Amino acid sequence: MLRFLVGSAYLWRDGRELTLIDAGTVDCAAEIEEALDGELRRIVLTHWHEDHTGSAAELAARHGAEVVAHVLDAPVIRGEVAGAPPVLEEFEVAIRAGIPPLPAAPPCRVDREVGDGDVLEFGGGAVVVAAPGHTDGSIALHLPGPKVLFTGDAVANVGRTMMGVFNTDRGRAVKSLHRLAELEVETALFGHGDPIIHGAAAALRQAAASTML
Ligand SMILES: [Zn+2]
Ligand SMILES: [Zn+2]
Repeated sequence: MLRFLVGSAYLWRDGRELTLIDAGTVDCAAEIEEALDGELRRIVLTHWHEDHTGSAAELAARHGAEVVAHVLDAPVIRGEVAGAPPVLEEFEVAIRAGIPPLPAAPPCRVDREVGDGDVLEFGGGAVVVAAPGHTDGSIALHLPGPKVLFTGDAVANVGRTMMGVFNTDRGRAVKSLHRLAELEVETALFGHGDPIIHGAAAALRQAAASTML
């Protein structure tokens, strides 16, 4: 786990082969590279937001890594279109006001566009789970073997396990949270907040149960 000022990224190791899940803000490349102890084979971006894609272009260029993102967020990551802004809930307005604006992410190539059910070749087969709502092309990654779930910003664990904030479509985000809560998960790794190493499914189910449409 790489913990940044805003958000987190994760390195998964299969022998000498590394997969980076998310890439922090623009200033995170050096810190990520310091953690590389193998060959950076691919970078999976859970969604287009600048705190997840900021250093992706720099790392992809330097390491020749394959960049993977959902088909709906890929054009935003490439800088071809602007991403839809979040529709803030009342309680989110104050949170948002307290966060300094992040520098925009430089456009990044996307080599592989994925959708729900696609399987990526790391962690014994990482299943792409479409989790729209935070952004249209938000994804989670479910590794059924080790029972690991990378949630991106579909779920957060800041203080408690909850639906991520700053969503473009709350209704769809709620449905995505409920779907993720049904997966067989031991370890959950969030875009923001502390990881849950053991028994994560219970926390996800509780978050879903307390979050209704
Ligand atoms: Zn986000
Ligand atoms: Zn985020």
